[in-house]
Amino acid sequence: MAPTMKVIQDSISVNTSDSMDIVNVAGQITTWLQEIGARNGTLTVFCRHTTAGLTINEAESGLLQDIVSRLSKLVPPGAGYQHNRVDSNAHSHIMTSLVGSSQSIPVEDGRLSLGTWQKPLLVECDGPRSRTLSLTFMGTCQDEN
Ligand code: ZN
Repeated sequence: MAPTMKVIQDSISVNTSDSMDIVNVAGQITTWLQEIGARNGTLTVFCRHTTAGLTINEAESGLLQDIVSRLSKLVPPGAGYQHNRVDSNAHSHIMTSLVGSSQSIPVEDGRLSLGTWQKPLLVECDGPRSRTLSLTFMGTCQDEN
């Protein structure tokens, strides 16, 4: 009998530690996939915030500093933004729009099927805070066979 497709949803919390910060969330996501017994399918990771985003890239510390530094130069704080009349973080919102809010990652044999250097990275643009990532796994699980 063919294994049944399941849809499993949950969320995880990620603490960031600076106004701008990039956190590798591969470990937390992998732990969750193990907990639900995921086998093969697709995981959608969605960052539920307007001032923090999600990308996939190499988690090399110099590169992470480069990304923060370039985003800050591209969208400097206090550059005459309309939103700053009601809030002081227009730059954080704009950076988040550039980074994006979600990633779809293939899951094979219960593991994220990423390239050698690829890691899912939460990009904090207005921290430090506790952030929430929604996880939706669609696929087969261990208890199906
Ligand atoms: Zn705002």
